[in-house]
Amino acid sequence: MRKFLKICLLLWVSSIFTAYSQQQKTNVIVIVVDDAGYADFGCYGGKEIPTPNINQIAKNGTLFTDAYVTASVCAPSRAAMLTGLYQQRFGFEHNTSSKPSPGYKLSDVGIAKNVPTIGNQMKANGYRTIAIGKWHQGDTEPYFPMNRGFDEFYGFIGGHRNFFAYDKVPSREAMLFNNREIVPESQVTYLTDMFTDKASDFIVKNKSNPFFMYLAYNAVHTPMNAKKSSMQKFAHLPEGRRAYAAMMVALDEGIGKVIQTLKDQQLYDNTLIFLINDNGAATNNNADNGKLRGLKGSKWEGGIRVAFLMQWPGKVPAGNVYHNMVSSLDILPTAVAASNGKFVEKFVPDGKNLVPFIDRNNRKKPHEALFWRRGVAAAVRKDKWKIIKAGDNPLLLFDLSKDTSETTNLALKKPKKVKELLRELQQWEQKMDKPHWFSDYGDSNQLMKHRMEVVGREMERKYP
Ligand code: CA
Repeated sequence: MRKFLKICLLLWVSSIFTAYSQQQKTNVIVIVVDDAGYADFGCYGGKEIPTPNINQIAKNGTLFTDAYVTASVCAPSRAAMLTGLYQQRFGFEHNTSSKPSPGYKLSDVGIAKNVPTIGNQMKANGYRTIAIGKWHQGDTEPYFPMNRGFDEFYGFIGGHRNFFAYDKVPSREAMLFNNREIVPESQVTYLTDMFTDKASDFIVKNKSNPFFMYLAYNAVHTPMNAKKSSMQKFAHLPEGRRAYAAMMVALDEGIGKVIQTLKDQQLYDNTLIFLINDNGAATNNNADNGKLRGLKGSKWEGGIRVAFLMQWPGKVPAGNVYHNMVSSLDILPTAVAASNGKFVEKFVPDGKNLVPFIDRNNRKKPHEALFWRRGVAAAVRKDKWKIIKAGDNPLLLFDLSKDTSETTNLALKKPKKVKELLRELQQWEQKMDKPHWFSDYGDSNQLMKHRMEVVGREMERKYP
């Protein structure tokens, strides 16, 4: 009897301890925006489109001026965000396609099966995980989010879909899934709102346990589907820009609702929120990159430098603007560290936990250099220097401290710097794998767009 009581007492104490430690774990939400312009967020200087809720994240947290994604198109950029690894390590160099490289099959297109995702990492640390929105990480069953570390999924697996209902049953890539079930198109209202509602529901349902949410809105990617009510607010803007602005507003309102839900559930202070854009302004959505040269698909700053915010009351400095370069690769290690967790066995990320670096007293930089490669075009940024190498095009070298808009090519004036950066690129490439599949679009636009004579948005849009 005595022994029995002792066991009961032990179980009781351990259950209290488990509940307590679970309650203490920080929730993590990664909000991804699709194809927005660097200058379209109020907190990045945008004046035309009100984004009060996004601005509030910047005000309550840290804004990164020199944040980079690892690719200027959707799928490879997200593959790195989701794994904390340069996507080239596992051959995810291009957008998902139907062109596997020699030695690979169509069924290899997606995040390589042996690579853990942020979902796997957070799950291993005791989190309930959900992916909401656009997936774009492989169309076939092994790559379905629920097979890649997410307990739940609410979204579509391809790269884009209509925001409103389709008249007919859409392709599998465009279908809306609620876990394994297909959501009938008759229930589709407006995608941005549906993702927001799902995010809020999930928060409420999981208020007593730690959760991780990957909230990947497909706004403001094409098709440019906006709600009429929001369009009216922008009657003064040119037509294409009007739809874009209305879509941004729906996105911002959605983010506001998600944050309000956290507040209502008393989870706001114990939630780390990231907001990141997956690549720069697209050539076809009327997004505005402001002073940054180039658009989505390019190695110019306008392709790879993105809006990036981080909020965590009491842990991430509020109203802080951070200028050292950071990367989307840093999301996973920061999230895992915030969960007080460990990486899954043997995992070594390419990114860094940003929290110690953004402390105002820390002068150390999280990254010495960052690298990019997609087919024929590659780039390196080291400190203030950036080189772009595209096939046999003339090399491009810029001093970003003086020339953020990349107007003056210093490659001929600084041969030593060119040599140094090319050597770094070569060393990095040796650690990467070859692409496991190729782009459906070939290389010619990549060669054309990375030339000094392609100047101005009109020309840039000619080479998507
Ligand atoms: Ca995108």
